[in-house]
Amino acid sequence: MVSRVIPVEPFDLVLFGATGDLAQRKILPGLYHRFEVGQMPDGARIIGTARSDIDNDGFRDQVRKSMEQFAPGFSRETLDRFLAHVEYVPVDALGEAGWSDLKERMREDVVRAFYLSVGPSLFSGIAQRLHDAGLATPDSRIVVEKPFGHDLASAKALNEGLRACFEEHQIYRIDHYLGKETVQNLMALRFANSLFEPLWNSTHIDHVQITVAETVSVEGRGAYYDQSGAMRDMVQNHLVQLLCLTAMEPPSKFSPNAVRDEKVKVIEALEPVAQSDIARGQYRAEKGEDGYVDHVGNPASRTESFIALKVHIGNWRWAGVPFYLRTGKRLRARESEIAVFFRDPPHTIFPNVGPLHGNVLVIRLQPDEGITLRTTIKDPGPGGFRLSDVALDMSFADALGAEAQAPDAYERLIMDVIRGDQTLFMRGDEAEAAWAWVDPIIQGWEQRGDRPSRYDQGSSGPEEALMLMHRDGRRWRQIGG
Ligand code: NAP
Repeated sequence: MVSRVIPVEPFDLVLFGATGDLAQRKILPGLYHRFEVGQMPDGARIIGTARSDIDNDGFRDQVRKSMEQFAPGFSRETLDRFLAHVEYVPVDALGEAGWSDLKERMREDVVRAFYLSVGPSLFSGIAQRLHDAGLATPDSRIVVEKPFGHDLASAKALNEGLRACFEEHQIYRIDHYLGKETVQNLMALRFANSLFEPLWNSTHIDHVQITVAETVSVEGRGAYYDQSGAMRDMVQNHLVQLLCLTAMEPPSKFSPNAVRDEKVKVIEALEPVAQSDIARGQYRAEKGEDGYVDHVGNPASRTESFIALKVHIGNWRWAGVPFYLRTGKRLRARESEIAVFFRDPPHTIFPNVGPLHGNVLVIRLQPDEGITLRTTIKDPGPGGFRLSDVALDMSFADALGAEAQAPDAYERLIMDVIRGDQTLFMRGDEAEAAWAWVDPIIQGWEQRGDRPSRYDQGSSGPEEALMLMHRDGRRWRQIGG
């Protein structure tokens, strides 16, 4: 079999914020895995930077410790070979220190990428310094982490800051959900099969549910999260992206701008959301467990750790089809999925079997990535004609075995940066369009001073979220069911 791992070109990847949590927990272990499978060529180099005054060996020791925690099962021998590709230069992102050292280390004849794993307040300043130092060559790439703005105005300012120094085709805005295998499989399912696309519209689809449920709390990010909340932290980026891939028209080709043009059209067609179609919640303290306000250290907080909402897409394909989005912390299970509910059969030829159920196509992102189609069959055996619902279930791990060991989302996305493929990254206008839809919703509850309702930890969210569905005669899929 031909190797599925295609080595990328030699590169210099400068990792700003290299001593930070994200770099140590995700980015560096991810790069190690790509090295382990042979995707990194001999000419690959990772140059970590931060203000901490350590040398190459000090940084490599730090990476070794992180690998023990975040990449269990790594090989020491492979790690030593990987670390020979890793260097460190102390750089003060907003001062003068370190920039000339960094410049001296950079090579001219390799792919050049700058990964900004630092707070967004540093994005524009670093971009400007890279530009002023002559490091931002026309072919170099800059990668920025979420959050991309706090609202439309700040997202515009970030875009302006980056575009003053880099062209849009050089800017990679990471939404790691787009690097997940199943998310890309959604595109394959829709556009590489003829089965679903003829049914993929309001004539055949009743509604869509998109759920991203977490069991964790704010996990040491309390100060940031309390300024943000579930709407900004999850809906504006991850859930909107999942909605776009579910709802977009087929792009003319699988190219970055063709795909992103179609996604922007979906976001621009999102209708305003009535406050009555929103349920916000905050997990409460209970049984000796701290609640949300304790975790963020703000007893008066009105920030939501849970949100559910109903939105319509104002176009021909989706007229009248509600999309229900739901995400929250400290919920019953960790689970992300897109569930497409097809309409019930219009007429039954099977009397006395109760109402027929429509088919449901579930695209599971985590845990256990895979696709399930709920179908109705005859109950086996004699003694009358009874029907029951069964799932045609395809777990990628079961179906594909070792082939299903897909790289982590970060690994895939970083390699896409080196390859120069922006398909799975948000374009600037996409980020702004999503904020333009989100801003008035948030302003609505802020102006009224709404308080989120409380929900139990380990539950499916507040009662209002259930009511949102019940009012429409529908039910949420059970989280962790
Ligand atoms: P963090 O742990 O606070 O790390 C920040 C890094 O930036 C450190 O390496 C710090 O090192 C460096 N830094 C801070 N100020 C600097 C300056 N003036 N000049 C140079 N380096 C500076 O943050 P993080 O959790 O890794 O997050 C990084 C970014 O990713 C943030 O935008 C965050 O929102 C985003 N993000 C994080 C996660 C996550 O799970 N952690 C998930 C999604 C997105 P020194 O102090 O040594 O300079």
